[in-house]
Amino acid sequence: MDLTPDQAANAVERNDCPKCEVPAGSACRTRSGKCATKYHTARFILVPALREELDVLVPEDRGPGRTWKQGPPVEAAPAAAAAKPIRIGYARCSTASQELASQRAALEPVCKRIFSEKISTRIKTRPELEKALKLAYDIKEAAPTRRSSSPSTSSSAWPATPPS
Ligand SMILES: [Zn+2]
Repeated sequence: MDLTPDQAANAVERNDCPKCEVPAGSACRTRSGKCATKYHTARFILVPALREELDVLVPEDRGPGRTWKQGPPVEAAPAAAAAKPIRIGYARCSTASQELASQRAALEPVCKRIFSEKISTRIKTRPELEKALKLAYDIKEAAPTRRSSSPSTSSSAWPATPPS
């Protein structure tokens, strides 16, 4: 990431959190009323520079793990400009690594984030697919009006649109 942890935290905190509904200027809050150790995905993806991060940590001086308190008011972030759709890719194959590599290569030009795994079709639990879906839901929650499509669950499905 190009931002320091403090810059990242400040950028995230300029938005209200769509997930835990804390106001701008405050760290995220857990269900038990503590200050979260990291910001919710639905919130930090509102910051374009942080969209590809997996985690954005709450800085130590904002009290992660301690009782949550509302922070001072901050200037809210300007409404996000109509951004390009965020595409999430998912590649899967059962054994041949070559196949997975070629799928990833096809997805890379069009996808912001790619999840992949080598797992048999007979195994019903697919951890990487779960992660891809969770990210899609988090994004949807943060930007409900954004057009989105679910990640493909098929190893043979290729992006519908070619790289531009
Ligand atoms: Zn939150």
